[in-house]
Amino acid sequence: MNQVINPKLTCYSIFENLKQAVLVVYNREVLYINPFGSELFGRRKGIENHCNISDLIAAENLSFFKEGVEQTFETSIQINDETKYIEITSSPTEWETIKPTLFLVKDLSSIKFKEEDLKKKTYEAQNADMLKSSFLANMSHEIRTPLNAIIGFSQLLSSESVDEELKQRYYTMIDNNSNQLLNLIDDIIDLSKMESGLLSINKIRTNLNELIEEISINFDEVLNQSKKNKAITFIIKKPLLKQDIFIYTDRQRVIQIVSNLLSNALKFTVKGKIILGYRILDKFNLEFYVKDTGIGIQKEKLSNIFSRFYQLNQMRDTRSKGAGLGLTITKNLVDLLGGELNVKSEFGNGSTFLFKLPFKEDELGLPIKSLKKNTPTFLDWSQKTILLAEDKESNALFLKEALRKTKINIIFAENGKEVMNVLNKKTEIDLILMDIQMPEMDGYETYQAMKKENIDIPVIAQTAYAMTDERQKILSMGFNSYISKPIQVNILIEMMAQFIDK
Ligand code: ADP
Repeated sequence: MNQVINPKLTCYSIFENLKQAVLVVYNREVLYINPFGSELFGRRKGIENHCNISDLIAAENLSFFKEGVEQTFETSIQINDETKYIEITSSPTEWETIKPTLFLVKDLSSIKFKEEDLKKKTYEAQNADMLKSSFLANMSHEIRTPLNAIIGFSQLLSSESVDEELKQRYYTMIDNNSNQLLNLIDDIIDLSKMESGLLSINKIRTNLNELIEEISINFDEVLNQSKKNKAITFIIKKPLLKQDIFIYTDRQRVIQIVSNLLSNALKFTVKGKIILGYRILDKFNLEFYVKDTGIGIQKEKLSNIFSRFYQLNQMRDTRSKGAGLGLTITKNLVDLLGGELNVKSEFGNGSTFLFKLPFKEDELGLPIKSLKKNTPTFLDWSQKTILLAEDKESNALFLKEALRKTKINIIFAENGKEVMNVLNKKTEIDLILMDIQMPEMDGYETYQAMKKENIDIPVIAQTAYAMTDERQKILSMGFNSYISKPIQVNILIEMMAQFIDK
């Protein structure tokens, strides 16, 4: 079929449907603009041809539409508060008797945004990969260093030529390194719980003065053991109030936050002062601060100091010992408690870490009582008996030795079945210390069996599963208390005393 094609009309229809803006401009007058152009430049309805180009294009973008010049370039322009990435091709042309300029404008925004998004994602992925590798390398170093000391000094201890004094020093080294390793593992667990949103917060009514006193007793001890104890003065500053202040918060987590900040202050301060203080900011906020006269932090590092793993890149600084997780965890904890952590520091002139916690003015409370330390000083439990359910020989031996000073009698059981055998013999038992993971019959099953038989002896559960929310499960089942491994002897004895010294 023969069709008569009118080239002028065909070109016109191509322009009208083109997904690029077409403008023909002569002496600033828009002789033609296609519908895509009207749309792109922010006029929804087709705009009148023959308008002035300045009615169409914002003044700051007019220079891109230079007549009589042949060129192609990419740029970004603002149209109705939106950034558009465009490519403009201008070519002088002839139209009847005049020589206007034809502008072709391609909207590259969606391609550009995709490109940028891709670049950003690639950068993030590369960065995460790099951080992960350096994190792993670092962790391996951080884990191996204390382990090395623990294994090394344990081997040295077995040598016959070691005298008592040296032995004590080796024990101290083993103890310090074990604690360092345990802290690191706790940090890693905390961080992974935070990242998977599993870290639970247990808010209770907390007496602030008692809390600060407890932290300061612990920190005084740390400071006494540190070589810097003579060069650093530890100061507590609190508001002069007749009443105690109570806040509704997670006590243990606040202790963890302040302790992290204090231990950093100690790590990065050679001499001078470390001040722990708090003040009432307003009706709704309390502010805690840890101020030191240490090395301070460079300005350019300040904004990154709380970001995840950032510290790892620079932690090989000789003064610093740590995995670079402390502040990340601290910030996350403050966030979880509904607060805000900030830092002020001047390089060479000390640092102040401040955090706010929510508080209500009516949380001012009762007259100040002095903190009673609960640790029993002298114990004689020679008339008492515990049943220790533990399948690991090393753990059983450790508990036997650790409890020796209390003179308590211990009956051992290796699994739940043995526990039930002992209990069925009606032996007089004051307390059961029950491992959760045991062969044949685990701690949960044993506890249920006891309840079925109406055996009402207090049970403290012990477990090494810090990752799961086992604590919740243990307490909801009705166990009297819970202690996690590795067991700290003082805490265990304090806990046992609650049931034995009734
Ligand atoms: P770590 O101390 O284990 O390296 P942190 O997350 O606790 O990890 O701290 C990260 C970094 O922040 C430290 O390595 C150190 O460079 C800096 N920093 C933290 N606290 C202080 C402080 N009080 N004074 C100076 N620098 C500090």
